[in-house]
Amino acid sequence: MDRFSSLGLMEPILRAIAAEKYETMTPIQARAIPPLLKKRDVLACAQTGTGKTAAFLLPIIDHLARNPAQGKRPIRALVLTPTRELAAQIGDNFEAYTRYLNLKHRVIFGGVNQKPQVAALRRGIDVLVATPGRLLDLHGQGFIAFGDIDFFVLDEADRMLDMGFIRDIRKVLALLPKKRQNLLFSATMPKSIVKLASSFLSDPVKVEVDPQSSTVERIIQQVMFVEKPNKKRLLRHLLEDSSFESAIVFTRTKHGANRVVKDLTKAGIEAAAIHGNKSQSARTRALAGFKKGEIRILAATDIASRGIDVDGISHVINYDLPNISESYVHRIGRTGRAGRDGMAIAFCDEGETDYLRDIEKLTGSHLTVVVDHEWHHPDAMPTRNSKANAKQIRNESRGSGPKPKRKDKAEVKESSKTRDENRPKRRRRRRKRSPVKPAS
Ligand code: AMP
Repeated sequence: MDRFSSLGLMEPILRAIAAEKYETMTPIQARAIPPLLKKRDVLACAQTGTGKTAAFLLPIIDHLARNPAQGKRPIRALVLTPTRELAAQIGDNFEAYTRYLNLKHRVIFGGVNQKPQVAALRRGIDVLVATPGRLLDLHGQGFIAFGDIDFFVLDEADRMLDMGFIRDIRKVLALLPKKRQNLLFSATMPKSIVKLASSFLSDPVKVEVDPQSSTVERIIQQVMFVEKPNKKRLLRHLLEDSSFESAIVFTRTKHGANRVVKDLTKAGIEAAAIHGNKSQSARTRALAGFKKGEIRILAATDIASRGIDVDGISHVINYDLPNISESYVHRIGRTGRAGRDGMAIAFCDEGETDYLRDIEKLTGSHLTVVVDHEWHHPDAMPTRNSKANAKQIRNESRGSGPKPKRKDKAEVKESSKTRDENRPKRRRRRRKRSPVKPAS
């Protein structure tokens, strides 16, 4: 058993961990914390949902608490994150883990008035959690000194690069003191990240808990084939099922997210959108409502969703399939967090068949096809076109291939048959059954 008590962390930290009801370390924690406590640089490949935030915060907190600042607190740890939401969540975690300690942190990001941020910086903080733009802006105005930084954490580095932050990261790196401990966390490890890592990590310990293309095992993954105009009907139909306790609906565009919300609201389902065009206060409000369970459905774009850390999200719905397959892995990681089960349902229209193929290639497994719904559209189904695929499909039908572990949440009438078996059967069934009128 990987118990936190084996790490030699300070007692107030262990007490805070106990108050959070963490019993054992997650794999990333068990593997990253010991080298971090030994002052090694760490390069970690871990998705959100694995407990990575505690993996980097706990050793930092331990060091800071053992070496309290004299006089005004200088910033001794900098955590750089791609999104405001993620920054806020890291701040919340820090708050929780330091509840019995006298350490101060501040989260800074753009899109809000800088005055309170500047006031906090003036008073002195131990840990700064920031998005790159506002960080460099405030540094440029002379409000941030980097001279005492002992720890630099680059979180969700792959997303940082996706969002075009590479130049900002380089600028920040050039401002930091040479002697410091570096931590890089990334959900995926493409060549660009390896290159970035080698530019500033010194002989890092490499920790990988979820290989690049693997999807979270606990999550039941399904796909429903549907014509684009029917997606809204299918969504409303699914959400009539009360097992969809809280769901994130992913769309490719901000406009798409707004449309989903409009549609659901019209149908009397509480929903809110979260994307880059929303003001910070609207995003915070939506997220708070979602966390409290007042809003059941959150419609989100990929970038806005990245930092969402809400436990107990029962479903992720890929309303639009992402054209970048890695985004699929990030998206479904919103559910099935911290040991819980989850379910991810993808809607695939005819124009998205290739995206589905790419996703299945990346994850190395087939999503379970659900055909038993009113809007099933066989033309959107990919055709079996490779030997490897054929083998997998045969294996699955024998029951030895990758399968969802639990099906009790799969109340959406699920077929566990393979895609090829489904196709003719469905056609027969469609002829026999009189269609249930969709609630439009
Ligand atoms: P993260 O990957 O850092 O976003 O963490 C995902 C979720 O797991 C957060 O809600 C944490 O509070 C929770 N968590 C982190 N470490 C543990 C642990 N050892 N045991 C149980 N839950 C944890």
